[in-house]
Formats: sequence, structure tokens, C-alpha cells
Amino acid sequence: MRILLVEDDIMIGEAITVALKDAAYAVDWVRDGDEADMVLKHPEHQIILLDLGLPKRDGLEVLHRLRQRGDAIPVIIITARDAVEDKIQGLDYGADDYLVKPFDINELLARLRAVIRRHGGKSSPVLSNGKISLDPATHEATCNGNSALLSAREFSLLQALLLRPGNILTRAELEERIYGWNEEVESNAVDFLIHGVRKKLGADAIKNIRGAGWLVDKQT
Ligand code: CA
Repeated sequence: MRILLVEDDIMIGEAITVALKDAAYAVDWVRDGDEADMVLKHPEHQIILLDLGLPKRDGLEVLHRLRQRGDAIPVIIITARDAVEDKIQGLDYGADDYLVKPFDINELLARLRAVIRRHGGKSSPVLSNGKISLDPATHEATCNGNSALLSAREFSLLQALLLRPGNILTRAELEERIYGWNEEVESNAVDFLIHGVRKKLGADAIKNIRGAGWLVDKQT
């Protein structure tokens, strides 16, 4: 799961980036409204954390332009603006959630999980295709009675596949969801992660379609 963090405060941005990476998200960080607006014209990310008080272009305007383009990507506003009117305006501009600074990082992580779950049309917090289940809060996966704790990147990979069961994801699509801009990706990185997940959950957990990519079964 790849997040775009839009935040001009360096200390807050660094703290959030570290926490998100620890929680297995790939994070790209931009520091002003213009850059955010430009980056968001390319659909690279799955969720946005958006500060409002930003240089060059206010976060609300970034959000407004995003929704005007018909982009439905989930957005969580993170801001020091704590007035009720600000919260109402943010939500009415198309934000999915609104978190006032300072906040506990664990609350941010829980809200991210909730927004991702709702966006996927799921009510259960655990992702499942009937055969594999994956808990985003603990990174524990179960398949055919095998239970295992996944590493951050193994979790990202399996999450990407379980969010679209029955759909083949290519190597490039998987890499895009697992790695941020500044991360070097070895050519066999995805194979390595697939191997790790299969070792923990069983060889049939993830299917390979030769020359195309990988998938997990759709629930029958
Ligand atoms: Ca700010």
C-alpha cells in the first residue's frame, strides 16, 4: 500500500514517515501544495495524508482539485485546524477522515486501516479470500491452517494481492505498491517476497501466471 504524505513540517513529516514504514506502508513525501497537486495527476498512490496549511497551495485546494478531476482516492486530512467549521469543510470537500494535530501515531494507523477497509467495501477488519486471511493490525496471515507473522514487505505484497483477489498483478504493479520513490528495487525483489510468503503459508498460497504476474484466488 503506497501512501502520499503531504506535509511541510519536517519533524512531523519525518515522524510520520518512520511510523508508516514500520507499519509496512510505502511512503512518498511532498512538502508543498503545488507538488502534491502535480504528483496526484498520476495514479501512483492508494491513499493520501494531507496537511492543510501548506506553502504554495492550501491543502483544501489540493483536495478540491483532486475531486474535481473525479479522483476517488481516499484522503485523510491531518491538520492543526481544529475548529468544527474546518472539519465540516474538509469532509465536505471530499476528505474521508479528519485528524487534528497533535495526534497519537497509533490513532493515525488505526484510521488508515479503517479508511482502507471502507474504501475496499469491506466490513471485516481482516482481509480474506476464503482461503488466506490477513490481519492488517498485526500482519498475521493464515492459510490452510498455517499461521505466520509476515515481514513488512511480505505483508504489503499479500495485501496488494488480497485487495484484488482473482486479478493478476504484474511485477511492476506489485513493485509500485510496495516501494516508494527513493527505494532501490532489486530486479528479483518481488520473487524473493513471493518465495518468503509461500514458505510461511504454503506453496499454493500465491499463484504464478507465467509471463503475466501473480494472483490469489477469488473467493468461491
Ligand atoms: Ca503545515
